[in-house]
Amino acid sequence: MSDGTGLVEVLLGLEGFRVLEVIEGSGELVVTIESTSAVTGCGVCGTRALAHERMPVELRDLACFGRPVRLVWVKRRWRCPERDCPARTWTEHSDHVDAQAVLTRRAGAEACRQVGENARPVSGVAAELGVCWWTVMNAVVEHGTPLVDDPDRVGRVHHLGVDETSFLKANREHPTIYATGLVDLQQRIVIDMVEGNAAADLRKWCAGADPAWLAGIGVVATDLAESFRSGLSPHLDHATRVADPFHVVRIGNRCVDKVRRRVQQETLHHRGRKADPLYRIRKLLLSGAERLDEHGQDRMLLGLRVGDPHDELLGAWLAKESVRDIYLADDPDQAELLIDKAIAGCADDEVDEIRSLGHTLASWRTEILAHHDTGASNGPTEGLNLCVKKVKRCGHGFRSFENYRLRVLLHAGGITWPTRPLPPRIRTHAPYSDA
Ligand SMILES: [Zn+2]
Repeated sequence: MSDGTGLVEVLLGLEGFRVLEVIEGSGELVVTIESTSAVTGCGVCGTRALAHERMPVELRDLACFGRPVRLVWVKRRWRCPERDCPARTWTEHSDHVDAQAVLTRRAGAEACRQVGENARPVSGVAAELGVCWWTVMNAVVEHGTPLVDDPDRVGRVHHLGVDETSFLKANREHPTIYATGLVDLQQRIVIDMVEGNAAADLRKWCAGADPAWLAGIGVVATDLAESFRSGLSPHLDHATRVADPFHVVRIGNRCVDKVRRRVQQETLHHRGRKADPLYRIRKLLLSGAERLDEHGQDRMLLGLRVGDPHDELLGAWLAKESVRDIYLADDPDQAELLIDKAIAGCADDEVDEIRSLGHTLASWRTEILAHHDTGASNGPTEGLNLCVKKVKRCGHGFRSFENYRLRVLLHAGGITWPTRPLPPRIRTHAPYSDA
């Protein structure tokens, strides 16, 4: 644009538009534009249309040099001169702006990227742009849905992870509502989120998936939830089921916690207080034995001696350690020996909680041992769960599961965002710098 005309149009960067006026409003730049098409034909009969009237439409566009931009598009209304033509009048349209939209398409796409890729709160993006919450959320749905539905987003999956996350906390109207996350354990992406954590919810999702895709799944890692185990049937019966080690160890920890609370209540007749011997060692009890130093061991033994008169908690601690031992073995045969030892030890115990732990271990024996054969665990989903939580936190409590699912998948679902070329780097101006 060396002739001096069209400089503002270069700045604007919207093809097919001309800038009529730029004024500085309060807290924003107001840019008045019109389309460059001064001639058009009637869409019905093809006769050259007559200019009928103009009406200004206000839009939000991307910020310009740090200032929010209000675009005022003086839209043309055309009229067909043929008296009998049914077209009568119509308004022009542009590929840059959707009918009825408040945001230009490029601003909508950027809003979607901010909320999706960067997991920013919708309200923050809305305030920054100067539009309402719904405008941004609608843009996220409109631009984000095709990215999430892209059939190339999830490729072939060999190791599937299934994990539950809480979606809505319990309140007066409903109990805690859960969601089930399906994860590609090797690519480390969230494949999908399903509302609910019941067997039927998972089964329904599997029933809707491509059978050829399901056939490619060799390993499924889940926590120790009966609902997941039965929900994977019949569609994933061919896959090796693995009980996730973290969750297996956690049932051991839970057993320790349960026995500690009960013994506490029975001996002192109140819930744990700061100075109570068992309450003081609650964290030591859950640490791995090999991680306790001498001082820690002494403290734990002292606490048990004072607070656990019938050695019930000591028994639970030993049972928990026997569960952890399963994972110290790399060799599948050794692991088999160790789990059978743990199960037998629990079965002989007089304490209900410990016997119950033994039942659970026996019921999941095959799946627990499958970890040693496949090496699969839901470990990779832990990082993804953090992503999910980040989305959840910034949503301040979702009401719509669909929106929640969309935002989780945009953030952690392996989306291929439309690429923008990176600008060349401008080097530092410091004259004597080494950079
Ligand atoms: Zn016409």
